[in-house]
Amino acid sequence: MSGLLAGRVGVVTGAGQGIGLAIAHSFVEHGASVVLVDLNEDAVRAAAVELGPERATGLRCDVTSASDVQYILDQAGDRFGSVDVMVNNAGITRDATMRTMTEEDFDQVVDVHLKGTWHGTRLAAAVMREQRRGSIVNISSLSGKVGLAGQTNYSAAKAGIVGLSKAAAKELAHHGVRVNCVQPGLIATAMTAAMPQRVWDQKMAEIPMGRPGRPEEVASVCVFYASELSSYLTGTVTEVTGGRFM
Ligand code: NAP
Repeated sequence: MSGLLAGRVGVVTGAGQGIGLAIAHSFVEHGASVVLVDLNEDAVRAAAVELGPERATGLRCDVTSASDVQYILDQAGDRFGSVDVMVNNAGITRDATMRTMTEEDFDQVVDVHLKGTWHGTRLAAAVMREQRRGSIVNISSLSGKVGLAGQTNYSAAKAGIVGLSKAAAKELAHHGVRVNCVQPGLIATAMTAAMPQRVWDQKMAEIPMGRPGRPEEVASVCVFYASELSSYLTGTVTEVTGGRFM
């Protein structure tokens, strides 16, 4: 354990699997206590048991609900004493071209990613502002930088997360609260395993490093943003893409 996050308390949304689960593991490895939250309560409870009940707890939360997000922040405070790091990671895809995408597909994706991140950012900021310290890490996507066909909903939401984060960074800087974004490229998780082989192969061909990323490689950037190593960074975006669309 490096102790980079010793004594810190992190909340990670969408931590039942994939990138969020890897972030929770990395935070604990680096000395933090973590509240893992997800729609899938069984998954986060099991992950918390594995991480150790003294350092981790798993709770159900739908990030589109402000009261759910407030509840998990209150629980983090009651259980571990503060909220030092908030990672807004929960996500879904509903890919389709505009010819077939339904309004519901659009609304659901924007709700989970953009409104969910807004709830997580503003409600965590209210706690952090009082503490006069904190780091908020919002998970965007390369899709929000370049726009990907079949993802008008997701690209819009992920680009929106960057704008939201920069605006929040400006509002919060003088309170000692930093807000930064991570833009992963192709990362091997359940979300990308659902992709047709043809689409996967096409994305792989675009990656200079010639391989997909691992969830832990996104998590290590989140550890950097959560820690004092990034004490002079706010409103930034880090691409974790193996060089794709640099
Ligand atoms: P994942 O394996 O599908 O995990 C996402 C998690 O979020 C799931 O456990 C899911 O729960 C949870 N979730 C969905 N809606 C939620 C809600 N309303 N409230 C709380 N939790 C919710 O996805 P991932 O690949 O780890 O992606 C994590 C984040 O990275 C997402 O924001 C994604 O857009 C972003 N990202 C991923 C990639 C990639 O290549 N994998 C690339 C760029 C960006 P359920 O399973 O119960 O729905």
